[in-house]
Amino acid sequence: MARHNRKLSFTTPMLVSFGGILLSFILIAIFITFTQRKDFLEDYHNINRNFTHNLAVNYTETLLRENDYILARAATFFSREDKLNETVNINPEEGLRLLMQLQTLMPTVSSISLADTEGNYLRAPEVLTDENSKAFDAKTRPWFVHQAKASTFSHYTNPHMDYFTHYPTVAIYKPVISPEGKLKGSVAFHLDLTSMSYTLRQMVAPVQGEFFVADRDGKVVLHPDTGALFKQYVSEKMMDKMTSGEGYVLDSESNVWYYYYSFTNPDWFVVYRVSDTMLMDLTRHETNIVSWGFALAAMMVVLFGLYLRHTSRTVLMNIINAIKTGDVNRAPRLEAMLSKAIELNKEREMAYVRQATIDALTGCKNRRAFDSDIAVLMNDHQPFTLALVDIDNFKSINDTWGHLSGDIVLRNVAREGIQVMQPRSVSLYRYGGEEFAVLFAGDHAKEAFTLLEQWRTIVEQRTWREENLVVTFSAGMKEWNMESLEQLIISADEALYRAKQQGKNRILPIPHL
Ligand code: GH3
Ligand code: MG
Ligand code: MG
Repeated sequence: MARHNRKLSFTTPMLVSFGGILLSFILIAIFITFTQRKDFLEDYHNINRNFTHNLAVNYTETLLRENDYILARAATFFSREDKLNETVNINPEEGLRLLMQLQTLMPTVSSISLADTEGNYLRAPEVLTDENSKAFDAKTRPWFVHQAKASTFSHYTNPHMDYFTHYPTVAIYKPVISPEGKLKGSVAFHLDLTSMSYTLRQMVAPVQGEFFVADRDGKVVLHPDTGALFKQYVSEKMMDKMTSGEGYVLDSESNVWYYYYSFTNPDWFVVYRVSDTMLMDLTRHETNIVSWGFALAAMMVVLFGLYLRHTSRTVLMNIINAIKTGDVNRAPRLEAMLSKAIELNKEREMAYVRQATIDALTGCKNRRAFDSDIAVLMNDHQPFTLALVDIDNFKSINDTWGHLSGDIVLRNVAREGIQVMQPRSVSLYRYGGEEFAVLFAGDHAKEAFTLLEQWRTIVEQRTWREENLVVTFSAGMKEWNMESLEQLIISADEALYRAKQQGKNRILPIPHL
């Protein structure tokens, strides 16, 4: 019997709608989270690039240019007249003083060398004469300028250990060329990479990473941790990728980003390396709050979806109940229209019930109501008395005054009966033609005879419009003693029959008092 109309199912479209909302929501959330993550990553790249740029331009370059400038001035100074020869060979004591003056100007320069083309040299500060210094040949030093190398540029040597101090050093050197174009020798500043590196320690990186200066081969030239000097920190493969003036590249093998800025002279790179995992962690951390927010909102959507499903079911159940019972107070406070519709529906239903149970001519309950009411009494085992009432000689009333008058008589007899019975809640039924039935339930069973008598007397004494018309009825009563309905009716009918036999206008049996 389960008739289920899919068109009436509201949970499915509701679930589909909420499923749709949830799905779109999740897709949007994923899209936003990923875009945001990409943006954050881009931001971090920019921050790291800026840091590398600043490290190169504001720190390293300034440091190098300063020395470069002084070197150029020194080279020009020694190129004039016989200045170089005087300083190195003729008056080295005065020359040493001169170089020391120069050296104090530059905190990162540990020593200065000046050599003529013969290899005679002067080093400030001076080194003591020992086996080591005796073996020193300026011509073999990387900063010594041979004829072939002579140019107006300054050069940087590869990082190396200083011959005398054994400190990590890079020398910046320049040929000393007279205004006439004659190569007179070379002047070199030995840069102390350790003390230069120390100043790097003041720099604070924006994210956890390592920054340093490397040469073309990827070997460290400057590093806040001086223990790292000269070590291979960037593979040659990665160095080959650093083709622009500045930029960043990913080492996909070690998953490390290299931000770089390249100088041309010296051929050095400022490098800042940050692990990709580190950046991912940072961006994930930044987007996590948003993701959590989305997750919470999605949960709310689900909860509200379930709540709506639940409440709409309840609302629908209430509406169904209200339609069934006609009780609008139990319906949810929907629009007044709904209440009105329910009430109207109930009224219409009541009218149908009334029409279906009331006899149109007499206004009594009909045979159908009788059948159902007596069945209820019997099912509930409620004691009751049945009376069958039949109008006497009705055929002749019809014959004498016509069928229409017969109807009027029928209606009036019924009305008198209703007036007697109704105040006591005793039901009167039109049983058939000119026959009525009365059901005296519960306490009224005792007064059945009295009430019928009252009715009979009223009818008997009633005056009618038709001249000489006298209307009477006979009745047979039977108290129910758990017998079948059929048997009960037969018994009542027998009593009625006896009343007719005994001369009509009476009620049988007369109760014993
Ligand atoms: P008795 O005293 O033995 O009951 O005699 P009676 O004439 O009443 O007996 P009978 O049952 O033979 O007659 C009933 C008549 O009632 C027959 C029918 O024409 C008439 N009748 C039945 N229903 C109606 C009705 O609705 N209107 C009218 N006017 N007459 C009806
Ligand atoms: Mg009859
Ligand atoms: Mg009759």
